Order: sequence, then C-alpha cells, then structure tokens
Amino acid sequence: MSPRVVQRLGRRLSSASLSLPLLSRVLIGSFGLSVLVAAAFALALLAMSDLRSSTNVQAHSKDVSTATLELERVVNDLESSLRYYFITGSPRFLSSWREARRSWPPALEAVERLVASQPAQAAQARQLGALTHSYVTEYGLPFIDIYKVSPDTARSADATREGARRISQIRQELTALLASEDNLASARAASAKREAAQAVSVGIAALVLAALLLLVFAVFLAHGVVRPVRLVAAGASRVAAGDLSTRLPEQGAAELHELTEAFNAMARSLEHGKRELEAQNEQLRQSERMKSELVSIVSHELRTPLAGILGYSSLLLKREFDEEDARRYLEVINAQGQRLSSLVEEFLDVERVESGRIELKEELFDLGPLLQDEARVIGAEAPKHRFDVSVGDRPLRVLGDPDRLAQVYANLLANAVKYSPEGGVIEVRGALHNGAVRIQVRDEGVGIPPEHQPRIFTKFFRAEARESGFAGTGLGLAVSRYIVEAHGGRIGFSSTPGAGSSFWFELPLAV
Ligand code: ADP
Repeated sequence: MSPRVVQRLGRRLSSASLSLPLLSRVLIGSFGLSVLVAAAFALALLAMSDLRSSTNVQAHSKDVSTATLELERVVNDLESSLRYYFITGSPRFLSSWREARRSWPPALEAVERLVASQPAQAAQARQLGALTHSYVTEYGLPFIDIYKVSPDTARSADATREGARRISQIRQELTALLASEDNLASARAASAKREAAQAVSVGIAALVLAALLLLVFAVFLAHGVVRPVRLVAAGASRVAAGDLSTRLPEQGAAELHELTEAFNAMARSLEHGKRELEAQNEQLRQSERMKSELVSIVSHELRTPLAGILGYSSLLLKREFDEEDARRYLEVINAQGQRLSSLVEEFLDVERVESGRIELKEELFDLGPLLQDEARVIGAEAPKHRFDVSVGDRPLRVLGDPDRLAQVYANLLANAVKYSPEGGVIEVRGALHNGAVRIQVRDEGVGIPPEHQPRIFTKFFRAEARESGFAGTGLGLAVSRYIVEAHGGRIGFSSTPGAGSSFWFELPLAV
C-alpha cells in the first residue's frame, strides 16, 4: 500500500468520524486497532499450532517405524534361536527362543497401538499378529516337542522349509507395513512442509497487516488530531505576529471545532478592537490637526482686521484730519469691522452646523433674481472681473431658506473672485437640469491641485491658499455643503490648476 493510499484512507477514516468528539474517536480507533491486531496475531498463532501438529505427526511416523523394526528384530530372534537350537541342540538357544516368544506380543501391541488410527495399517498389524502367533503355536512349539523325541525330523528339509515359509510371510507383512508407513511419512512430510510454508506466510501477512493497521492509525491520529492542532498553533503565531485577519476553517472533531471557533472569535474581536483603536487614533489626529489649523487661522485672520481697526482708530484719536481723510479712515475701520463680523459669523455657522442647531426656513422662491442681484453686489467690488450671468427664461423655483442659499451662492462667487487674482470672466449659469435647479459658477483662476481636491469640503482645509497669500478660514465650502445637503441637494466642482474652477450645486425643483 503506497503512503498516499494510506493517507487517503486515514483522511476518509477521520472525515467519517468528524461529528464524533475527539476522545471518542481516539478510543474507538484504539479499540478497533487492538481488536484487529489481536485477530492478526491469533491467525499467526493458529498457523504456528498447525506447524507444531504436523511436526507431531512426523514424530509419530518415526515411532511406528521404530516399533515395527523392533517387532522385526523379535521375529528374527524367534527364527534364528529356533534354527540354531535345532542345529546345535544347545539349551542356550532354547532359552533365547523362549525370551523372544515372551517379547513378541508386547512388541506387536506397541505397533497396533501406534497404527490404530490408520485402518489399513491396523489390518496389517492384525495379520502380522495372526502369522506370528501361528508361527509360534503351529510350528515353533510342536517342532520343539518333536526335536526332543526325533531331532532329525525337526531338522528335516520339509520342516525347515515350513519354518522358512512362515517366517517369509511374516517378513513380507513387516516390509509391507514399513513401506506403507514410509508412504504415509513422506505424504505427511510433504504436507508438513506445505503447512510450514503456509504458517510462515500467514505469520508474515499477520505482522504486515498489524504494521499497516498501526500506520493507518498513526495517519488517522496525525490527520485528525496533530494536524488541526498544528494549524491552530500556526494561526496563533500569525495572530501574535500581527496578522489579525487570520481565520481557521471551523471543522474537525467536536473539541477541535470548538477550538477553531473560539480562535476565530478571538481573532475577530482583536481585529475589531484594532480597527476601532485605529479609527479613534485617526479621529484624534484629525481633531489635533483641526485644533492647530483653527489656532493659526484665528490668529492670522483676526489679527489683520484688528490691526487695521486699532491702527486707524488710534490715528484718528491722536491727530486732527480733514473731513475727507477722516471719512476714508472710518470706512477702512468699518470694512475691517465687517470682515471681523463675517469671520465670527462663519465660526458660529460651523458651530451651529456641528451642534445641529442651524435653522432653515422653508420658502418657495425663484433663485434667478437672487443670482443676478448677488453677482451685481460682488461685481461692484471686483473691478478686474467681468461677470457673465445667465439664468434662462424659466423660473428656478426651489423650496428652502433664501438667506442660506444666497450665502452658498455668495461664497462660490466670492471664492471665484478671490482665487482669480488676475481677474477674467466669472460665468454664472442657472438652469433646469434633469428635474433639478443647477447653479454653476466658473472662474479663470488658479484652480485646485488634484491631490487637494478630495478634501476641499473639509472644515479648515485650505489646500495651498494660505501659502499663496489668500485670506480665508477654510470654512465656507464646509458650511455650503451642509446647507445644500440639508435642502436635499448636491454640491461639487471640477478644476484644472492654472485654468480655473467650476463649482456647482443642485437643488430639487419645486413644483
Ligand atoms: P476659504 O476660501 O475661506 O479658504 P472655502 O471653504 O471657501 O475657504 O474654500 C476652501 C478652499 O478651497 C480654499 O482655501 C481654496 O484653497 C479652495 N477653493 C475654493 N474655491 C476655489 C476657487 N474658485 N478656485 C480655487 N480654489 C478654490
């Protein structure tokens, strides 16, 4: 079995028991493995015991041969002692014969006992017994008696032939028994060899099976337990290294599922906390930036008009001027006072917008005349600019606060004048556009660099205006956007640095 197959098997095993708790999975796996390994070893033991019994059978064969040869020896003793007795008449041979006569029944009995399980051999043993018995009783004993009376009769050729015939029959039977036992022995040896080979194969197979089962169990443990735990450890290291987006697949046994779920919940809450902290940090940074912007704007924007007011008023107090000069100085003081007042108004507007205290009137009116009037007022103060105002024939009717909407428009006009210091055309278009009233103010001024455009409606943001020497607070557009959006409208712009800007706002057409 290739390692990949074993792995796949392990994976299948572990996925089949996914819903089980880890403890049960390991217990069931260990129990199943023990049973299988025990079965494999039982198989091996069975094969070994077969081997032992075939060895026993071989030993039995040897016993049968030994007992048969012992019987043959006793028969030989019977024959030779009788023959020598008849030839010599020596009582020594007669007593040998008697000894052999006593020995053959137990020798035959031993053979009979050993071959009792083999019917053919048992019959042979019985035949041997009958032949030996008849040799002793029908030949040996009668001729011994005859010898005592007539030794020549006992030694006669007929008598000798009769003895030899009977002994030959017994020997034939003994040879047959030995041959059959030989056949049996070689058959048993062959089967013992086969069984031994089988036992070895079964033993090896059982050991290989046990080893494979252990391997499968190890893969199962590795896949079901070690791998998920390693995954969690790797995930924890990634989180510790700062990668809070780390998530683990929520799968595996019940305990591992719980572990990965808890891990993911922890990572989620850490990530959420980090994001909140980052947002708070950004807010803090932004309000810090705004604070310093506010300080520098207030100090810069308030100082200039205040210096003018203080300078000219102390001049008027200290010296006598003719009426014309005094009036000019008073007009400067008044203009700077106006500027201070509108600055304060802008700051108050922002404060109102942020606290949601800005109140908007709801009047139905035509924006057209307002566009004309406001352009005339501002145009009077901007000698270098030519105003081109077009509002069409149809009334630009909107529902809202005329003063606040005039404030938005005036802010766009004032910016158009302020940010085109070289003068040029300021084009105002009021028209109906896709069911809305669209007002557009275009100038031929300095324009806005693309990198600053996204923040142009942010409070206090002034792009490069301060560095370029333009007065202002960076609040006008922020307040304008709030007013337009509070009327259900939109405000936007397009700008090309060095070529000019085009600001617009749209309000729902009132019917
Ligand atoms: P302020 O004009 O007081 O600085 P605003 O909120 O009206 O504040 O404008 C924000 C910034 O947008 C300005 O500082 C300026 O950089 C830019 N800006 C506004 N209008 C124009 C314009 N017509 N042309 C060029 N830049 C403009």
